[in-house]
Amino acid sequence: MPARRVNPNRVKLHRSYSVEELARCLDVHKNTVRHWQAKGLVPIDKGRPVLFQGAAVRDFLTKRNSSRKTPCSPGTLYCFRCREPRAPALGMVDFVPMRPGSGNLRAICECCETVMHRRVREVDIAKVMPGCTVQFTQGQPSLSGQTAPSLNCDFKRTG
Ligand SMILES: [Zn+2]
Repeated sequence: MPARRVNPNRVKLHRSYSVEELARCLDVHKNTVRHWQAKGLVPIDKGRPVLFQGAAVRDFLTKRNSSRKTPCSPGTLYCFRCREPRAPALGMVDFVPMRPGSGNLRAICECCETVMHRRVREVDIAKVMPGCTVQFTQGQPSLSGQTAPSLNCDFKRTG
């Protein structure tokens, strides 16, 4: 379930907000605000009702938004399980063409073996995946049990 991005600038810096007020201000559910609290949004004090300082909210949301935007550095894809960019296991990457000139890179996370994807333009593949073996595939993987020639290549890692 993709979380909606909220606009931190809707929060006034010098106001304090209850959970309800903050939810209304940002057009999110109250549970979302509680979730933020669990994720590190600090209330003004331990009093009830819980109040948040606008500046703290804006700071929290800005950091949260920017951490999501972190681009993967070359040689990595974003692993949703590890929640960070990871290198492909064995340096092996598939390129799945989606439309002329671009498609998805697909690889296995070297840490948790989850399948990772990264959208890429075909011309950027070498730049995005330096030193990786990129195997071009034919669109969606077929279920017909075709033998992939790539299985025969040796898996030794060069450096
Ligand atoms: Zn992983």
